[in-house]
Amino acid sequence: MSILRSGSATHVGQVRQVNEDAIVESISLYAVADGMGGAAAGEVASSIAIEALQAAYATMAPSLSSVRRAVEAANAAVYEAATAEPTYRGMGTTLTVVAPVTSDDGHERVVVANVGDSRCYLFAEGGLRQLTHDHSVAAEKVRSGELSEAQAAAHPQRHMLTRVMGVDEVVAVDLFELPVRSGDRLLICSDGLSNELTSGQVANILATIAEPRAAAQALVEAANAHGGRDNVTVVVVDVVVGDDEEQDRDLNAFAPISSNDRSTNDDDLTGAVPVVAPPTPEPTDDHKATSGVHGTPIASGSYAVLHQTGVIEPVVRKRSRLVTLRVLLFFALLGGIAYGGYAFITWFAASQYFVANHDGVLVIYQGQPGGTLWIAPKLVATSKVTTAEILRARLDAVAVGVREPNRAAAWNYIHGLHQEWTLTQATTTTTSTTTTTTPSSFAGVARLGSGR
Ligand code: MN
Repeated sequence: MSILRSGSATHVGQVRQVNEDAIVESISLYAVADGMGGAAAGEVASSIAIEALQAAYATMAPSLSSVRRAVEAANAAVYEAATAEPTYRGMGTTLTVVAPVTSDDGHERVVVANVGDSRCYLFAEGGLRQLTHDHSVAAEKVRSGELSEAQAAAHPQRHMLTRVMGVDEVVAVDLFELPVRSGDRLLICSDGLSNELTSGQVANILATIAEPRAAAQALVEAANAHGGRDNVTVVVVDVVVGDDEEQDRDLNAFAPISSNDRSTNDDDLTGAVPVVAPPTPEPTDDHKATSGVHGTPIASGSYAVLHQTGVIEPVVRKRSRLVTLRVLLFFALLGGIAYGGYAFITWFAASQYFVANHDGVLVIYQGQPGGTLWIAPKLVATSKVTTAEILRARLDAVAVGVREPNRAAAWNYIHGLHQEWTLTQATTTTTSTTTTTTPSSFAGVARLGSGR
């Protein structure tokens, strides 16, 4: 049986205020999560993922499909939290898992699962190789041959992830099954380590420091010494006793290496072969795809599609991500236009005043007579001038609404109507009732008018 020994270390780094990385280190499960999201959400996402992963895996027998289901459960937990709590919206996390399992064929192996750009490396026979494939825009471009490793390291989108836990109901999990031998050293780390140190520097530390916890601490210290621009998290898992009867581990057959994939890798001082991604494996009819070649991802992006549609079709992740970005931009633009239109209509609706008859009294509305779309005119002032105190000839106009450019002009209009009528009253014989009403009405207009 395999015997593992592990050690871990995590540090906030030299720049960040909060450590958004999370870690699990138990006998049966090792994982690193690197959270992202506004406010404290990144921290929440990574810790939810780790807790849910542990809780789910604890109920299962150690196996490749258990690891996959536990990662999917962790994804669902983060997604639910992000959906339920507005301040957590959009949060996500990477997740890279190592778990010892007994395979269907009876061999003891290690399952590696990955979503995002936290990494798992194998340090064996003095060489360091990356087992996981980063799900970042730059790494996808390296795999498709568009970029060299060196170009990718300086690429502006090297931190933009193409796969993240918790942003969607389903997640595509990369799974690897690795035969392990005595003396193997597995390293799980967040990008805070891999961005600060070259693989040569990492290999040197792993080669020099035997005790796993001390090695993990030395790696974290080295990352901090090189700038520590991000949270740094490291788990070192040593295979004290492996399944050494299994002799067929051929790590050079790990991935078909095309000429573009490894054109330049100057920083690799140990001469370790950088592992580049095999092409996305063809989806198989069997959802519980079994490992054909050890170490190749035996589950891939095809899972999400299979589950959603039941139709087997290859998934081109890079493209779907670009489409997502375009769609986002499109909706942002659409949103901008819609908001512009809304703002204009709101402005237009309120841009005028009109005088109208409201229950026999002259009043001032803000807005357009009859309203604008869904925006009804708003009653903003009531005068004391009744429709009996203006000329009959003006009643029709007032019934429709007399537009004025501003509130003062509307008051002037009411004032004018009333004055016009008062003058006609003065030249004719009037009843006592009317003469007493006139001054009071007038005073009302003046008072209301001055109050604007
Ligand atoms: Mn990070």
